[in-house]
Amino acid sequence: MNKSIDVKFDEQHIWHPYTSMQSPLPSYPVKSADGVRITLENGTELIDGMSSWWSVIHGYNHPVINQAITEQLSKMSHVMFGGLTHRPAIDLCKKLVELTPKGLEKVFLADSGSVSVEVALKMAIQCQLGRGYKNRNKFVTIKHGYHGDTFGAMAVCDPVNSMHSLYSDILPKNYFIDAPKSKPNGTFNLAELDELKALLQNSNEHIAALILEPVVQGAGGMRFYHPDFISGAKAICEQYNILLIADEIATGFGRTGKMFACEHAKITPDILCLGKAITGGYMTLAATLCTDKVALDISQCEAGVLMHGPTFMANPLACAAANASLSLLMTGEWFEQVKQIELGLRDGLQACLELETVADVRVLGAIGVVEMKKAVNVAEIQKLFMQYGLWIRPFGKLVYVMPQYVISKQDLTSLTSGIVNTLKAL
Ligand SMILES: *Cc1c(COP(=O)(O)O)cnc(C)c1O
Repeated sequence: MNKSIDVKFDEQHIWHPYTSMQSPLPSYPVKSADGVRITLENGTELIDGMSSWWSVIHGYNHPVINQAITEQLSKMSHVMFGGLTHRPAIDLCKKLVELTPKGLEKVFLADSGSVSVEVALKMAIQCQLGRGYKNRNKFVTIKHGYHGDTFGAMAVCDPVNSMHSLYSDILPKNYFIDAPKSKPNGTFNLAELDELKALLQNSNEHIAALILEPVVQGAGGMRFYHPDFISGAKAICEQYNILLIADEIATGFGRTGKMFACEHAKITPDILCLGKAITGGYMTLAATLCTDKVALDISQCEAGVLMHGPTFMANPLACAAANASLSLLMTGEWFEQVKQIELGLRDGLQACLELETVADVRVLGAIGVVEMKKAVNVAEIQKLFMQYGLWIRPFGKLVYVMPQYVISKQDLTSLTSGIVNTLKAL
């Protein structure tokens, strides 16, 4: 018997992300998902344009990842990581050290992206203490950033977008500089580094690290910027012994056309945060990597150890999923797939530029963004997208997609033409 799903209970009792409990937006019940398709309880099939927030890069219900998790499940689903270790964690960390920019040698496995950012911030502060800087406990970041929803991470998110005013007495105060404006493929305006230069010159005794999302700022506005800003910023930070934290939770694992967005700038950050696509979107896991030097300096500080240790650190099932996802990436197929998606998105979204309501269209790697002149009505536009068989969830003025790397040419065309037609109909 197919008992009907209790959507009323969901509405009345279950929080959804950034959603009112009093007048929630509709939440559509999903029955299953396979490849690039989500099937709703009522039988509707939707092509997924969101990869479940950047994470499902190989598609849903992938046989290789399914098998890896099933095999791990029959051995053990979890053991504590304090004083114990296991093959899935070791295999995963080996792969991460190999794949990430040269010099990142030490891996901390965390349970979500936000936590990996908290760990990165702690690493930076403890590293500076270890180097003898007693007051370096603030961070610099660029406006329009997003780094997660926990307090430390929130304190380096864009202050306007993340409503810092609500938490003004409890959020630590950090330094915000203007986000770079030069486009990734244009020429870089060197003057965009001036504010950082001046800030570090005047306030370096308070600053532990610069944290940024390299090249693509995700949830803070889907902005793309020139990689020379990052290499320039890295050089300025080095002058003052200030660390660079690259938050690649969204950009990592091929999404921007390079395995990691830092490669566009040809730099190795001191600390790197990874998450989202790390398990192929199967379950929650994140990682914070750092250089030997940072790890050594942390061990010189008073505590002698890094002060963090989640209960579910290095969960073996999550590590098994990540190992399978990374081995799929390591075939190298993603590179051509992302390139084809980039071409398809450029081609397919081009027509949006002719619409009166559209302010900008931009594409980088497997990320396509249509920026509207005005904020869209999410509930209304989502209904239209669904008539074209698409799952897309815009925010504010931004209609954006980051498809699974395995999307077919035909499905990609359905995705882009559905967007064009929907925006025309608004
Ligand atoms: C999603 C995201 C985070 C937070 O990750 P969670 O797993 O949601 O906690 C942090 N930084 C960036 C750049 C992200 O895109």
